[in-house]
Amino acid sequence: MSSQSLYQVPSDIANNALVNNDQYKKMYQESIVNPEGFWREHGKRVDWIKPYSKIKQTSFDDHNLSIEWFYDGTLNASANCLDRHLEDNGDKVAIIWEGDDAAEQRKITYKELHADVCKFANALRSQGVARGDVVTIYMPMVPEAAVAMLACARIGAVHSVVFGGFSPDSIASRVIDGKSKVVITADEGIRGGRKIPLKDSVDQALSNPDVQCVEKVIVLNRTGGDINWVEGRDIWWESIMDVASEHCAYEEMNAEDPLFLLYTSGSTGNPKGVLHTTGGYMVYASMTHEYVFDYKDGEIYWCTADVGWITGHSYMVYGPLANGATILIHEGVPNYPSPARLGEMIDRHNVNILYTAPTLIRALMAEGKEQFDGFDGKSLRIMGSVGEPINPEAWRWYHEVIGREHCPIVDTWWQTETGGILISPLPGATDTKPGSATRPFFGVQPALVDNMGNIIEGAAEGNLVILDSWPGQMRTVYGDHDRFALTYFKTFRGMYFTGDGARRDEDGYYWITGRVDDVINVSGHRLGTAEVESALVAHELVAEAAVVGYPHDIKGQGIYAYVTLSRGIEATEELRLELRQWVRKEIGALATPDLIQFAGGLPKTRSGKIMRRFLRKIAANEITNLGDSSTLADPAVIDTLIETRLNKA
Ligand code: ATP
Ligand code: MG
Repeated sequence: MSSQSLYQVPSDIANNALVNNDQYKKMYQESIVNPEGFWREHGKRVDWIKPYSKIKQTSFDDHNLSIEWFYDGTLNASANCLDRHLEDNGDKVAIIWEGDDAAEQRKITYKELHADVCKFANALRSQGVARGDVVTIYMPMVPEAAVAMLACARIGAVHSVVFGGFSPDSIASRVIDGKSKVVITADEGIRGGRKIPLKDSVDQALSNPDVQCVEKVIVLNRTGGDINWVEGRDIWWESIMDVASEHCAYEEMNAEDPLFLLYTSGSTGNPKGVLHTTGGYMVYASMTHEYVFDYKDGEIYWCTADVGWITGHSYMVYGPLANGATILIHEGVPNYPSPARLGEMIDRHNVNILYTAPTLIRALMAEGKEQFDGFDGKSLRIMGSVGEPINPEAWRWYHEVIGREHCPIVDTWWQTETGGILISPLPGATDTKPGSATRPFFGVQPALVDNMGNIIEGAAEGNLVILDSWPGQMRTVYGDHDRFALTYFKTFRGMYFTGDGARRDEDGYYWITGRVDDVINVSGHRLGTAEVESALVAHELVAEAAVVGYPHDIKGQGIYAYVTLSRGIEATEELRLELRQWVRKEIGALATPDLIQFAGGLPKTRSGKIMRRFLRKIAANEITNLGDSSTLADPAVIDTLIETRLNKA
C-alpha cells in the first residue's frame, strides 16, 4: 500500500473522539486478554432489571456448541430504547421522518415514541400475542415499523421483519418458518413515487394453503388505497391503537431469550433464519453504534438501510435508540426524485452521521458530480459504508463529493449473523485506506486460515474466520440448529467461518476480497472478485462491475466480467479492448478479463448486493437451472443477461 492512499484521522476528530489510536490499542488488548473483565464492565452500558453475574459461556466446537452471554441477567430491549431516556430526554426527538414525498415530515419525541410503543404493545396483547410468539412485520419505512418492533420486544414477542419489497412467496415461507400467528402490515407503501401493494402481497401469501398459522393481520392505513378485507382476520392498526392504554409494563426477559428472527440477504443461496437474543445483542449493537460512529449526544444520525435488513435492526433501531440518538428515517430511496435527494436530506435535517451502502454510492457516481453542486454538507461529520466491499474509486468519490474531504469513512464489515459490526475503523483512532475495513472491534478475534484450516500469520490472504464469540453473535438458525453448526462451525473446526475471503496487509489491516465461493482460480492463481471489480470501476467510464470465473480449457478458469457503463456512455469494441488493457495494467496479465459483457444492469439482492451466483451460471452457459431467485430484486435483468451472454459454446 502506498502512503498516498492512507487517509489520516483528521486532528479535530481525533481530539474529540471517544477513543484515539492509543486508547483503541489498549482497549482492544484488554478485550482479548481478559474478555470476562472487559465485558463485565461494558455490559453495564445497558439497563438490567436483574444484573448479570455470569459473563460468557462459549464454545465453537461443533459437537459442543455454546454461545451464551450475560446469561443470568434480565432486561427488556424496549425499556433500553425508551424508558431509560424519559427522565432526562423525554422531549428529545427520537425519530425525524421524511416521506417519499419530501412535503411529508414528522417528528416524534422519546416520550411520544414510548407512548406509541406502549399502546401498540397493549394492542398486540389484546390480539392474543404473548411472550415467545413470533410476529411477522411487513411494513413500509414509516415510524410505525419501529413502533411495531419495539412493541414486540416490550411484551417478549419475537419479531420477524420481512423486507417490504419481498414477494408473497417469500412472505409465506418466512411466516411458515416462524409459525407466526400475527402479521403486521400497511395498506400500501410508497417508494420512489410508486405505490407498493403490501396488504395485497400479504393476502396472496396467506392464501397459500401451507400457511395455516396466521390468525390476525394488523393493517396500518398509510395511503388509504383500495384493499381487500378479510372479516375476522384483518384489523386496522388505528382501531386497536385508539382504545389501547399508554401504560404497559415491560416483560422481564432473560439475556438469552430471543429478541428477533431475521433472514440473511440470500446472496449465496437460500436465506438463513438468524436468531438473535436480547442481552448480548443490545450490549453489542449499542456499543458498536457509539464507538464505530463516534456518536455524540445530540447528533442526528441517518442510516439509509431498510428496516428489513440487519443494518436496519442494529443501526437504525436498537443501537441508536439505546444510545438516545435522534434518527432520521426516510420512507423512499435516497436517489429519488433525483440523485440530489441524498444531499438535500443531509442539509435539510443537519445530518451528522450518514450510514449507507456501496450500491447507492456507485449509482450516484454514475450520475456525475454535478448532481451535488447545490449540496452544502456542513453538518456531516462521519460516514459509513456496509453491505459489500466498497471499491476504492467509490470510496474516494464518497469521501470527496459527499464528505467534502473532511469526514472519516468507516467501512464496516459484518453480517446478519454477527448482529453488529466486527471489523471497522474507529473515526478517531484508525487511519483509513480506501477499500479496507481495517481493524477488529473490541473483543473480536479475526484470523485467516488456509483451506486446511491452518492459521496463517502476518501479511497474507485466506479464509476469514473468527476465533471466539462476541456478545452480538447469532445463537442458532431458527428451527434448525444442525444447519447452524454445519454452516458456520464445521468447515474449520473450532472456528466461526464467515464465508468471506480476506487479505491482511503489513499494517494488520483487513481487506475483504469477496465470498470464498466466488474466488476465481486462473492457472493455479487465486483471485478475489473484489480486486478485479475495483480495477474496472476505477476506469472513468465504468459505473459498476461484477466478475466471475467460468470453465476455461487451458487456464482452468477464465475471467468473465459484466460491466455497466456510466450514464450516456456507448458500449463499443474499442472500449472492450481498452478495459481489458486497463485491468492488465492495473493488476497484471493474469487478471485480464477473457470476456466482457456490457450490461444495462446487474442482478442484485433486494438489499442491493450483486448476486454473483447467477452471473457464474450465465458465464458458464448453464442457463436452465439458475437456483433460488426469491431474493432477486429485478428478475428481468437476468433475462437480458442470458440473451446477450457471450459464452454460448
Ligand atoms: P446470504 O448469507 O444469504 O448469502 P448475505 O451474506 O449477502 O446473504 P448479509 O448478512 O446481509 O447476507 O451480508 C453479509 C455479507 O455482506 C458479508 O458476509 C460480506 O460478504 C458482505 N459485506 C458486508 N459488509 C461488508 C463490507 N464492509 N465489506 C465487504 N463485504 C461486506
Ligand atoms: Mg451471508
